[in-house]
Amino acid sequence: MKTKGYAAFEAGGLLKEFEYDLGPLGDLQVDVKVETCGICYSDISMIDNHWGMTTYPFVPGHEIIGTIEAVGSHVKHLQIGQRVGVGWESGSCGTCESCMTGHHNLCASSIPTVLGPYGGFSERVRANAGFAIPIPANLDAAAAGPLLCGGITVFSPMLENNVKPVHRVGVIGIGGLGHMALKFLRAWGCEVTAFSHSPGKETEAKEFGAHHFVSTSDPTELMNYANSFDYIISTINKLEDLTPYLVTLRPKGKLVLVGVVVEPLQFGMFPMLLGEKIITAGAIGSPASIATMLDFAARHNILPLTETFKFSQVNEAIKKLREGKIRYRAVLTH
Ligand SMILES: [Zn+2]
Ligand SMILES: [Zn+2]
Repeated sequence: MKTKGYAAFEAGGLLKEFEYDLGPLGDLQVDVKVETCGICYSDISMIDNHWGMTTYPFVPGHEIIGTIEAVGSHVKHLQIGQRVGVGWESGSCGTCESCMTGHHNLCASSIPTVLGPYGGFSERVRANAGFAIPIPANLDAAAAGPLLCGGITVFSPMLENNVKPVHRVGVIGIGGLGHMALKFLRAWGCEVTAFSHSPGKETEAKEFGAHHFVSTSDPTELMNYANSFDYIISTINKLEDLTPYLVTLRPKGKLVLVGVVVEPLQFGMFPMLLGEKIITAGAIGSPASIATMLDFAARHNILPLTETFKFSQVNEAIKKLREGKIRYRAVLTH
């Protein structure tokens, strides 16, 4: 199947039109005609080869909303024309312990959508059928794309770490991920606190669902919140010292890192030891968790705040995201 997309041909390069052939459709695969695709910061990390795994030509895009265009001969649960979403993963081995226990996102052989072989800044993507997740009819598909990666990245830690409505939860960073975290946690029933180094974001953070706002531009401010939170979810990609946040956790509290920090992290042991506190991380979520999240988002009308660009404006949108000027998630559309 001939397809056109936008590809980077070198690390850090501008995207240019690129035509390629997806080859024959596998028995368990589907082709998804792309309607919209969110731009995630991971796309930029991959364009720049920050994680050392990019192959070029590289077509980014893993927050895909589209309709089923073709189904493999063994695919019975999806119909042509049905609206689906495809996130960071478009396949996994299906047989390892992680896959067999429902944690496909932890499969060592999982297939990133953008490397399998080409992502959603294109006319169509191919995915294993289990990774094309039906979009609930009552969810606004035009804005839902960023839920497929950014949304599940902050929602899955709530499922995996047993966050309950009685818990007090902090969110570090009010950006693409963080603003969705505030919305999910508020609807979940938690007492929600936003941490941001931009004091100007207080009003918006509260509109997204935060009960409280803590400005981290003054680092000593965090000391006023010692022993306050059951969970803190960090969505930022620059974080050196975890110690101040460990101090703010209650005993047995968890700091969940979902924003990707490439540099090594540091923390003082005493605040951790004295409260038996836990540092963990989240890696997107399984297809089943994505379906649960979409259902929850539809029920509570949770959508990201998006800025829309035409696919032909992709380089402009990426430039704006690199400059940190997107409020709060960019979506490409035809
Ligand atoms: Zn992503
Ligand atoms: Zn597997």
